[in-house]
Amino acid sequence: MNIYYSEIQEKIMSSELDILDVFNRFIGGTFDRKGFCKCPFHGEKTPSFKLFRNNKSFYCFGCGTGGNIINLVSKALNISYFEAMKRLDEDYSLGLFEKSIKTDMRRSKEAVETARKQLKHEQLQIKRRNNYFKLIDYFKELREMPLNQAVSHDLTFVERLLDKWLLYGNEPFDGIPENFNADALICALKSKFINEEVENGERN
Ligand SMILES: [Zn+2]
Repeated sequence: MNIYYSEIQEKIMSSELDILDVFNRFIGGTFDRKGFCKCPFHGEKTPSFKLFRNNKSFYCFGCGTGGNIINLVSKALNISYFEAMKRLDEDYSLGLFEKSIKTDMRRSKEAVETARKQLKHEQLQIKRRNNYFKLIDYFKELREMPLNQAVSHDLTFVERLLDKWLLYGNEPFDGIPENFNADALICALKSKFINEEVENGERN
């Protein structure tokens, strides 16, 4: 039984419904002074069927049939447990199904939304972490290079970016947009060196 069913069941069990009233509506019978009635579910001469109004249940000491108020309707009308809940809801205007369906839909929407946000957050963290490691690699690469103005500029630039990263962790912060792409940046920074090399005739 899923949450939806069990919620409705709980609401029926904790409602003001009286099992005697339900019994009289769907089955009907005469109870003796001790509260016994002839069992509607098996033939008998001596009444051994009893209702327990305090917990909305019934039991037959003759045939052993028993259950709660929903089981009673289910057995009496020969319908499923779920159909019995619907029947009680309709006949007694409990309004449980309408509300539950709405609640259920709202909850699923909320769950989907939460999962979507969580996934987005995790993806963003992975992206930022990858960017961070790429920047570190590039920083190491720069430090291996012979120092000139361009290398020095990039070293300072990348170092500042890394500082920001360490300062703000994985949270979004000013200066580094959500869609920051370390590959693109590094590629742009590197192209400068390649151009310089070409200009200096170091490449052929
Ligand atoms: Zn019985």
